[in-house]
Amino acid sequence: MKKIMAVNAGSSSLKFQLLEMPSENMITSGIVERIGMSKSVFSIKVNGEKIEETLDIANHGDAVNLLLNKLIEHDIISSFDEIAGVGHRVVHGGDKISESVVIDEALIQYLEEIIDLAPLHLGPNLTGIKAFKEILPNVKHVGVFDTAFHQTMPEESFLYAVPYDWYTKYKVRKYGFHGTSHKFITQRYAEMMNKDIHDVNIVIAHIGNGASICAVKNGQSIDTSMGFTPLEGIPMGTRSGNIDPAVVEYMASVKHKPVKEIINQLNKKSGYLGLSDLSSDSRDLVSASKEGNHQAALAINVQAKRIADYIASYHNYVGGAEAIIFTAGIGENAKETRENIGSRLAAFGVEIDDKRNNCRGVEQLISTDHSKIKVYVIPTNEEVMIARDTLALL
Ligand code: ADP
Repeated sequence: MKKIMAVNAGSSSLKFQLLEMPSENMITSGIVERIGMSKSVFSIKVNGEKIEETLDIANHGDAVNLLLNKLIEHDIISSFDEIAGVGHRVVHGGDKISESVVIDEALIQYLEEIIDLAPLHLGPNLTGIKAFKEILPNVKHVGVFDTAFHQTMPEESFLYAVPYDWYTKYKVRKYGFHGTSHKFITQRYAEMMNKDIHDVNIVIAHIGNGASICAVKNGQSIDTSMGFTPLEGIPMGTRSGNIDPAVVEYMASVKHKPVKEIINQLNKKSGYLGLSDLSSDSRDLVSASKEGNHQAALAINVQAKRIADYIASYHNYVGGAEAIIFTAGIGENAKETRENIGSRLAAFGVEIDDKRNNCRGVEQLISTDHSKIKVYVIPTNEEVMIARDTLALL
């Protein structure tokens, strides 16, 4: 039995889960929020109960120290040595990282070199890694990358039709994200079906606040909807997904705003939130649309249409998907949205079963016995995937 910590460091937050491996039981989880601001919040689950404290935490180093000492205080570990490994979620691995790796100085240097590919997230990821490495110098630290699973995409999928030197000189290409989740689902599906992973041909719809579709052929990602950044693809909670890039220059000019501000609106004020003028949260939109709110229904339908478009296209690209998998917050919980998307795939013989679809957060077949493509809900678990990869590298 080994205790492995899965960590996700953001600019002002640090999420963690401690897992017992290989059983994959979660021992505890928690989050440090508002790091570097006043009234930071530390919360942790002890025996299933959430304990929350407000205090001042100046930086990520202090946050790591605090959370490790709290594990001792709450009798979850008796010394830091009990932690066998730390798996760090890293948003971007550029085009050199195609699997999880042990974090050494060379890797840190490489990540610093590619920081411009994801400055808002990679910087904080690195800060978290350095803080943990300093406090736990004798423990193995492993980087688990959101982009890694998609490194198997062929050139025809990852290249944009732009001047070729944008790719060769500036690394402009599709990278894809949510790879840890898509990999988890691919493995889990193979396990559920008792199949060799190399025989898995599926389309995965990871629909949460962030959302992406992935085409999996022979167990590998061959295309995905997110691109150079997570902004590409389907509309999300606050992201627009695909638009004509000429809109950016046009809106910058009519609003007298810098391009950066327009891109910020596409990331933070669009998608569900932008179209509905109401909320980025699917629950709010589902209930408002039931009460007849046109814009809420529109936001859901615009997203559902685009998701169905991607699924249709990827079904073809993988050579005929044997299954479509819904996962993440909306995919696992919003039966109305699953039904909405499923009904748009009727031309492929997809048939959602009302009774089976009436489920939340559980593994479940939701298509009818006649459905030409099987449709499943499979809850994702990125932390378990991080812990598995970390354990494998210890
Ligand atoms: P992320 O990890 O990208 O922040 P999540 O995967 O947690 O996002 O998904 C968040 C989304 O899941 C929200 O839009 C939320 O409303 C939706 N969601 C969670 N539970 C339900 C539910 N019971 N019904 C409908 N939507 C839900």
